[in-house]
Amino acid sequence: MGVLLKSFPRQVTFQELNASSALNNAIRHYQFGAVAAFAALHLAVLAVFFVRFRWQYLGLMLAMYVLRMFGVTAGYHRYFSHRSYKLNRFFQFAMAVLAQSSGQKSVLWWAAHHRVHHRHSDQLPDVHSPGLRGFWWAHAGWVISNDYDEYDPGLIRDFGKFPELRWLDRYHWVPTVLLGAAIYLVGGLGAFLWGYVLSTVLLYHATFCINSLAHVWGTRRFDTADESRNNFVLAVITLGEGWHNNHHRFMHACRQGILWWELDLTYYGLRVLNWLGIAHELRGVHLPHCEAEAGT
Ligand SMILES: [Zn+2]
Ligand SMILES: [Zn+2]
Repeated sequence: MGVLLKSFPRQVTFQELNASSALNNAIRHYQFGAVAAFAALHLAVLAVFFVRFRWQYLGLMLAMYVLRMFGVTAGYHRYFSHRSYKLNRFFQFAMAVLAQSSGQKSVLWWAAHHRVHHRHSDQLPDVHSPGLRGFWWAHAGWVISNDYDEYDPGLIRDFGKFPELRWLDRYHWVPTVLLGAAIYLVGGLGAFLWGYVLSTVLLYHATFCINSLAHVWGTRRFDTADESRNNFVLAVITLGEGWHNNHHRFMHACRQGILWWELDLTYYGLRVLNWLGIAHELRGVHLPHCEAEAGT
């Protein structure tokens, strides 16, 4: 592991940033609507105890989780935020719909804020730095507050030029509502509670863990100018996003698990899509180049 380590000059130390975080904690806007919806969805999870358990429900929950987590990682993150591979316009739209079926707002909103995170990781403009603004804020607070309802379209011009993505931005709730309604109509209340409500809440928290825990808990292979970590547990529950320190070092790489044992199911899925002729030009991590940087 050591051979891959490279020291990068820090622009400012984490402690220095912490010292100035009071500035950033001044005002946080939570509106009742966003908080109530978030709380109601969590309360609705408890209803799974009031429907008779069926293994099919558990299977549906897992399938909806894995499929939509792929939409989050391969869609919101690796495609729309980092352009780490290419899709044609039809599959680009399909990927956006799949991502938004997870209920994490539009791909334009998600990617624009994520680009800010990489530009200013663990520095004051970062929308979700647990070291600077607290764990809860980094995990969920910034999403359910109304401070970041808007985004700078200038940060996502490359995708904002497509009218179908702007439509999905305006009506960002459509894919997730349609999915929930379809599951209810086909499978009834039990299927809805397990396959939609529970899997959506688990998806939220697994995704949020990358913004919170993956900057706190784990190991650091690369001495990046932020607090990103690699974490196997997070990599399992997020289909590969737990290799977050690798990702901060190689943010445009489609592959986040670098070593053979660094499980990265999203990357394997994208390799399959590449083989099927759907995803093209997957950008990789060039280990020889990386080791040369480390002076080995
Ligand atoms: Zn990060
Ligand atoms: Zn990223």
